[in-house]
Amino acid sequence: MSVIQYLSVAAALLLTLAVPGASYALEAAPAAAEKDLRLEVLHGTIQPGSILKLSLTGPPGTNAAMSFQGSSRFFTGRGGDDPLVLFFGLGWDARPGIYHVGIDVAMPDGSMKRLSFTLPIAERNFPRQSITVKDIFITAPPESVQRIADETVLLHRIFNASSAELYGKRSFILPLSGKVSNNFGEWRIFNGTKNSRHRGIDIACPVGTPVRASNDGRIVIARDLYYSGKTVIIDHGLGLFTFYCHFSQLNAAEGQFVSSGEIIGLAGATGRVTGPHLHWGAFLGNLPVDPLSLLEMR
Ligand SMILES: [Zn+2]
Repeated sequence: MSVIQYLSVAAALLLTLAVPGASYALEAAPAAAEKDLRLEVLHGTIQPGSILKLSLTGPPGTNAAMSFQGSSRFFTGRGGDDPLVLFFGLGWDARPGIYHVGIDVAMPDGSMKRLSFTLPIAERNFPRQSITVKDIFITAPPESVQRIADETVLLHRIFNASSAELYGKRSFILPLSGKVSNNFGEWRIFNGTKNSRHRGIDIACPVGTPVRASNDGRIVIARDLYYSGKTVIIDHGLGLFTFYCHFSQLNAAEGQFVSSGEIIGLAGATGRVTGPHLHWGAFLGNLPVDPLSLLEMR
């Protein structure tokens, strides 16, 4: 399901949003005498793990910030031919309910405008699974401890250094065809002892299946990592990354720009796996979000 809302301060709009099992209203702010602003919110189902794309059209020199639950974030872009854009992700621990989102807009003449809409977060139940992997993925051997620590720091640094330019301007695509498990956020117990949450989804496929870039972007990781095996991370800009793991072969180099659909490697079973598959993740900064919600964001 894909829904687009156009919200305008020129008129109070009442739009019905379809969420499975529920019906909510998405309502614009009360009317103000302002015709120059238009807010577009792209999203699919709004639930824990979902990502939304906010796009604001305004005159050149417009600035805007979104506030939600006490924190605020700035849009990039300058208005005019350069729309203001912001990706907004809901963590897997987001609580269902109707929330209020405010957009404060600084107009080129120095005046301030405020847009707002309600955000209905649907309930989501996450599956549980017990998984058995090699012991080295439960208790790391001493010679790998430093490597794992270094990789944790590296990933943290990568996810905090996204491009301020939006590269991923197209609709996101599934990186390969295969059996898709809708298992983002799954509670996992490894070897009966170690608990974790699944930070992506899994797509079953034979070893050697070509894996494609989900959107345009810059390759920021193309290397072998302890847990995720041969891994590619693409920076799509504005804090949004896609993450591809367990390759048998990498066909991408760090620093390289790729286009949507370009082959970045071949699927495999490297790292912490129980068999060949593609693990596909998405991150907004350090926040894991459901990559399947990227596909609905049209
Ligand atoms: Zn996985």
